[in-house]
Amino acid sequence: MLGNNYDRQVCSIAGALEVVGERWSLLIVRNIFLGLRRFDEIQENLGVARNVLQTRLTRLMSAGVLEKRLYQERPPRYEYRLTEKGLDLWPTIVALMQWGDRYAAPVAGPPVVLEHRGCGGAVDEHRVCEACAAKLSARDVRALPGPGAVPEHPLLRRPLHPQAA
Ligand SMILES: [Zn+2]
Repeated sequence: MLGNNYDRQVCSIAGALEVVGERWSLLIVRNIFLGLRRFDEIQENLGVARNVLQTRLTRLMSAGVLEKRLYQERPPRYEYRLTEKGLDLWPTIVALMQWGDRYAAPVAGPPVVLEHRGCGGAVDEHRVCEACAAKLSARDVRALPGPGAVPEHPLLRRPLHPQAA
C-alpha cells in the first residue's frame, strides 16, 4: 500500500498504483515475464532484501496478480506465476519499457529488445509486429538482450521465455 495519499483519488491510475506502484512490485512482475520465477532468482536479480521481496510477493498474490505454484515435491519448491490479471499487465510493462528506451535507456541503447516469436519482427508502440502486422500478446513475443544489456543481465545468463501460463 502506498499509504493514505491516494485515498481521495477516484482514479484508475491511483487504483492500479495501489497494486503495482510500490518500489520493486513492477520489477518483480517484469522478472516473472522474463522467466525469473523463483524467490531466490528474483531476489538475486533485484538485490532487494528478502523480507521486502516476501512482502511484495504476498501483496501481489493477495491482489490476484501472482500465484505460487509447486514445481517440485521433494523437497517442496515453489515458483511464482502470473495470473490472467498479472498477464494483463504486459501492455503496461511494454509501454513503460518503450518509454524508458526513449527517455531513460543506457547510452549504449535499450537493454532489452522484443521480437515477434518465430517471425523476428520488432514490436511497435501499439504492440503490433513491424514485419507481419500481427497484433501481439505476451505469449507471442520474446525478449532478447539489446545493445545496452550488461553482462549480468538475466537474459544473458540463462535462456528465457515469456511465461506461457
Ligand atoms: Zn511478425
